[in-house]
Amino acid sequence: MISVGSDIRQLSLEEIQEYFTEIGERPFRAKQVYEWLWKKSAKDFDQMTNLSLSTRERLKKDFTINHIAVDHMQRSNDGTIKNAVKLYDGKVVESVLIPTEKRITACVSSQVGCSLDCDFCATGQLKRMRNLNADEIYDQVVAIREQSEQYFGRPLTNIVFMGMGEPLLNYQNVLEAIDKITSPDGLNMSPKRITLSTVGVAKMIKKLADDGVKFNLALSLHSAIDEVRSSFMSINNTNQIEDLKEALRYWYDMTGRKVTYEYVVWKGINDSPEHAKALVKFCQAVPSKVNLIEYNPIGEGRFMQADPEALDMYVSMLEKAGITAKVRRSRGKDIDAACGQLANKS
Ligand code: SAH
Repeated sequence: MISVGSDIRQLSLEEIQEYFTEIGERPFRAKQVYEWLWKKSAKDFDQMTNLSLSTRERLKKDFTINHIAVDHMQRSNDGTIKNAVKLYDGKVVESVLIPTEKRITACVSSQVGCSLDCDFCATGQLKRMRNLNADEIYDQVVAIREQSEQYFGRPLTNIVFMGMGEPLLNYQNVLEAIDKITSPDGLNMSPKRITLSTVGVAKMIKKLADDGVKFNLALSLHSAIDEVRSSFMSINNTNQIEDLKEALRYWYDMTGRKVTYEYVVWKGINDSPEHAKALVKFCQAVPSKVNLIEYNPIGEGRFMQADPEALDMYVSMLEKAGITAKVRRSRGKDIDAACGQLANKS
């Protein structure tokens, strides 16, 4: 017996078929419902016009659709859009649309708050309240896909898991969401256009490789020296540089795909040649590239963007070693939509 009263999107196609059989309906109806729920991202049962009125009423009685609602939308003067997204239980997460000439990228959240406490990140100052369900992650992408067409007249091209939360600590739901996003029964997007960014949970990086995922991996490194990294990212106490290297080697051996390292250079913290040298050495473990990202201040504190000369020094040392390095300007800063600024302020 299928448990009713719950969100119908927690059910698989087979379970919906079973439900239809139980209520004496033809099982092919399940396929229609499933298509409405995912491919057409219906927000309520009334939209399912190829079902009879009585079937729709029955579904309404037995299930809910806990669709997210974009509660509040802000637009940056660089075109970036930030959504405050309300969940069925009243909790709020943020997601961001980032337009560039060639791409439109959705930056989505995987948890409400975050259980990590990286000192430089505003989300890390919130407590982790709960994991997002797969459909709540999926819905963020659907909402941004609609905004992409509406405001830019262009399709969504890329997805990054760089919003609130640590995706590898909500492993199952994140993978399920990506499965639906890439499925022909869902949004049919290519996994090559999806990047999951992790703080670096070695065991889970290996699990991704074992599970044969087809999307890209980014690691928030910020330092390749244990004492330095541990001083602002407590995860490094249990997942040290050598552990990460080993996990990334495993990832590369299994997938053959390059890893991207995200790296902020801070004044007086990691802006001298010994730090760049350690990064070069780290990059030599597996084929990789480096995004040097601009620091987005999150209030008073010891973190300050390094001087341009320090960035030049990093880029030239990396390039000399044959490693691609790009300096990334941040987007949506004026509306607190940039990396590390998502903290439900509005
Ligand atoms: N938990 C995941 C994804 C969320 S953070 C992770 O750690 O990768 C997305 C990216 O923003 C990470 O690379 C993170 O290190 C970076 N970031 C966090 N705070 C930042 C800040 N204040 N300025 C610039 N980048 C920041």
